[in-house]
Amino acid sequence: MSILIEAAAPSPERIECHSPATGARLGSVAVCDGAQVRAAVDRARRAQRTWRETSFEARRVVLRSVLTRVLDEADRIADCVTRDTGKTRENAVTGEVWTVAAKLRWTLDEGERHLRPERVSTGFLLHKRARLEFRPLGVLGAIVPWNYPFQNLANPIIPALFAGNAIVVKPSEWVAWSSERLIGIFRDALKEHGHDPDLVQLVHGYAETGQALIGAGIQGLTFIGSGKNGRRVLAEAAKHVVPVVLELGGKDPVVVCDDANLDCAIAGMLGGALINAGQNCVAAERIIVHEAVYEQVLEKLREEISKLRQGSSGLDQVIDVGAMITPLQLEIVEGLVTRALEAGARLVCGGERAPGARGDFYKPTVLADLTPDMEIMQEEVFGPVLLVAKAGNDSAAVELANSTPFGLGASVFSRDAGRARRIASRIESGMVGINDFGGLTYMAQALTFGGVKESGFGRMNGREGLRACCNVKSVIEDRFPFSVPAKVFPVKPQDYAVAKATVKLLYGNGLRQRWTGVRELARALRS
Ligand code: NAD
Repeated sequence: MSILIEAAAPSPERIECHSPATGARLGSVAVCDGAQVRAAVDRARRAQRTWRETSFEARRVVLRSVLTRVLDEADRIADCVTRDTGKTRENAVTGEVWTVAAKLRWTLDEGERHLRPERVSTGFLLHKRARLEFRPLGVLGAIVPWNYPFQNLANPIIPALFAGNAIVVKPSEWVAWSSERLIGIFRDALKEHGHDPDLVQLVHGYAETGQALIGAGIQGLTFIGSGKNGRRVLAEAAKHVVPVVLELGGKDPVVVCDDANLDCAIAGMLGGALINAGQNCVAAERIIVHEAVYEQVLEKLREEISKLRQGSSGLDQVIDVGAMITPLQLEIVEGLVTRALEAGARLVCGGERAPGARGDFYKPTVLADLTPDMEIMQEEVFGPVLLVAKAGNDSAAVELANSTPFGLGASVFSRDAGRARRIASRIESGMVGINDFGGLTYMAQALTFGGVKESGFGRMNGREGLRACCNVKSVIEDRFPFSVPAKVFPVKPQDYAVAKATVKLLYGNGLRQRWTGVRELARALRS
């Protein structure tokens, strides 16, 4: 199945696709130019005119079919993403199949409840009824990164479809090969149930294709990617007045108190920092440890990391830490670590490429004695690197935690739940885990996902994620079978005094102010 062939005539330019774990060539995918992107959005718009009228049950039928395919084809999905990204097979299942299945299940079970019209109060308009309706926006766009090829596709597609929209996705050029093979799961499910598969389309390419999508007539955009490109996307979206959900990078802190269960904390740190070779927006990058347990934590980290296996993940080979997506990404991590060591950081373990590896592997690395002024404490690393810093007390830990421009996820470990909650509430982040890795919030699909500060704005997942795909429309109508119109004109001489007195009567603080309103109103009406 090739969407590209159906969606757009091949352009002369092609993306060459390779496996980062083995260097093997996977194939190539044609790049879409501006005209092809606009054509894809036009087709999506035509398809959406019918789709927007479908019932929630009809949409659930499609999503149920998608879920069946995801579960039946779990091995194929895992194989595709493992080959395209160099990630481990275990991460392919937990990070891609599991998360997508969880999102589908949540949307099937709870989606309608959050998109049904919602009654709200009318204030003083007692003769009226008011409600919020959640109407589809139209055609949505999504520009997504490479770290979870299937999840990054499915994440914007599922809520977009369920809310009655069509969607055009531009996947990362680094995972064009697997995206092209996996999008059929959605298109085939639509086709099977008599809907137009053009409700979901891919457009492949680089930054230019992304920019073209923003200006192609879409009604909303989700951008998941780096802060640098997020700013460019925002600038282009401003030109076309396209609303954007921006999911950008992070530099998540993990605060470890002196009374923490260290086994629990180490497990959370390793999971948080090394899943997907650390190529996670919510990676546990900065480990902020109370000085009383600082050396103990470093020793435990060294010990646990020495047990991990790294390499190319195959059917007969169990691997803990996979490859970096590109040689460039590996060089960026290498450079940041080298400069941190030059600036005075202490190397606890790792700090180099995995020797003898054929692919792009960087050893799990722990650096200690970091301070917030160091470059590596301010830049997103996006690799298997844990940066450990010391804090004398809880306030110092919070200050360190908040000392970057990012605010995505966070974790706090303490046996005193009240203390952990107090610290968690002071950390500037969109998500926080107490006595577990903060990225775990992603596995509870009812929770929203998104950041503050330079980590972006808007939310994916949960009720807010679904409603972000909607025009939240305010509707007011008569409560009774007769109309009392709001008659403003012609304005009468006493209208000013009547309005002023009525405001006091309706909204005054306490009986006294409201009683003044009553008296003034009576006087105004008499005049
Ligand atoms: P990236 O910014 O390089 O690319 C992301 C997507 O944007 C790709 O599809 C790319 O082709 C496209 N793009 C690049 N320049 C563009 C432009 N000027 N206009 C329009 N589109 C453009 O990011 P990446 O390297 O693919 O992914 C890694 C980054 O993504 C990290 O910073 C990571 O933290 C972030 N990320 C964030 C989340 C989140 O939910 N907050 C999730 C995953 C990844």
